[in-house]
Amino acid sequence: MSEFNDRSVAIVGSGPGGMYVAQALLEKAPGCKIDIIDRLPSPFGLIRGGVAPDHQNTKRVDKKYTQTITNNNEVRYVGNIALGRDVSLKDLTEIYDAVVLAYGAPYDNKLGIPGEDKENVYGSNAFVGWYNCHPDFIDLKPNLEINTAAVIGIGNVAIDVARVLSRTPQEMATTDIADYAMDSIDAASLKDIYMFARRGPIEAACTNTELKEMGELEAATTLVDPNIIPTDLPDNMDDRTKKVRTRILDTLRLLSKSKANEKRRTVHIEFYASPIEILGSNKVEGIRMERTEVVNGRCIGTGETFDIPCEMVITCIGSRAEAIEGIPFNERNGIVEHTEGRVAPRVYAAGWVKRGATGTIGTNRLDSYAVTDLLVSDFSGKAKGGPKEMDTFIKGRGLQAITFDDWLVIKELEENAAIEPAPRRKFYTVDTMLEALNTPR
Ligand code: NAP
Repeated sequence: MSEFNDRSVAIVGSGPGGMYVAQALLEKAPGCKIDIIDRLPSPFGLIRGGVAPDHQNTKRVDKKYTQTITNNNEVRYVGNIALGRDVSLKDLTEIYDAVVLAYGAPYDNKLGIPGEDKENVYGSNAFVGWYNCHPDFIDLKPNLEINTAAVIGIGNVAIDVARVLSRTPQEMATTDIADYAMDSIDAASLKDIYMFARRGPIEAACTNTELKEMGELEAATTLVDPNIIPTDLPDNMDDRTKKVRTRILDTLRLLSKSKANEKRRTVHIEFYASPIEILGSNKVEGIRMERTEVVNGRCIGTGETFDIPCEMVITCIGSRAEAIEGIPFNERNGIVEHTEGRVAPRVYAAGWVKRGATGTIGTNRLDSYAVTDLLVSDFSGKAKGGPKEMDTFIKGRGLQAITFDDWLVIKELEENAAIEPAPRRKFYTVDTMLEALNTPR
């Protein structure tokens, strides 16, 4: 019998931020009951809907998360239940001893420039969700019957988008890209993809492994102006950053050796260029860029502008969390308002709702463990009803919660529907997942 046996925690969101809180709770509060609540029937957030389909190795972390849920009777998955739609924060704080908000940052930041509302301007969350078969974005149907696309940003998401747009069906055969997206990308007349970075090579937000992949595409060439790549790094840079930056500059140098050729698509990486207007009538016809310079790490417009004709713009400039009624929200940073992870009495934040959309999957581990330490040290007072009371709540509201066993059935159906060597063929919608579950097998 542990001192935590009567305690219960609801974690809202089953992405990396939430899953590492569950893992930490198993270690730090053995016996505590943990419900992982997610608005989708499918668990693991960005691992399924955000990580690029051709990065299946990264997605394998889901095996570890599955162990967290299945190896211990204390943890349950409660899918298809949405905070703000089916249950309020007040409900959850009445049912559980603590609530951890870990519902991610699924909304695209805005450029805030004229023309952003034109047809064929997409945010990366929507675009990535579309090719990853996320139920929220399957109807996006971007028009790829175009010559040129502009991708704004040079973070890893921008690289993902440019790379997936450049891949062939053969290169994607071992992935779980949505079939409609692969068909559309393959059939597209798209020839040129411009990636615009508002700062320089030294400040590029992407990581080297991802950048390197841009030089390994079967049917696309990546071009970089060799003259833009600095030979030296600033003296005041610490050794670790120097090492990381040197690798990126080396990769850019390698990419800059490529010449324009007859490959199906060309990716142009353009540094020191910031968008100031999206041009066209109701549809995108071009983008106006301003040349920039970097002063003390900050991007400053030079006043010199140039236009690139293009028929699509995909902004990959970071994400923000959803502002849910009753939860304090920091509009400026697009995160839940908190102090070191504490949002309100017995309410905590973890993952991207807490830190903003930064860092790798592993970054969440340390952060979620730290939040869990606070949560466990705050346990006090009479224990709440926990999972049993949640079951009564769900029944009373006539909601259909998805258990982890239900999810395993959906998962198996997706795996069975895949055409070798693809790992799975995802359901397009929540309704079709639920229908499949309710169909006798
Ligand atoms: P990010 O790394 O923050 O990159 C955002 C990019 O958008 C930067 O190049 C940024 O430029 C630019 N940007 C921001 N506001 C802009 C504006 N108003 N105008 C023009 N450019 C603008 O964000 P992300 O790519 O969405 O990635 C989010 C996190 O997920 C990152 O930590 C990333 O490493 C991680 N991630 C990792 C992987 C992977 O490991 N394979 C894959 C995907 C995502 P500045 O640098 O000048 O601000």
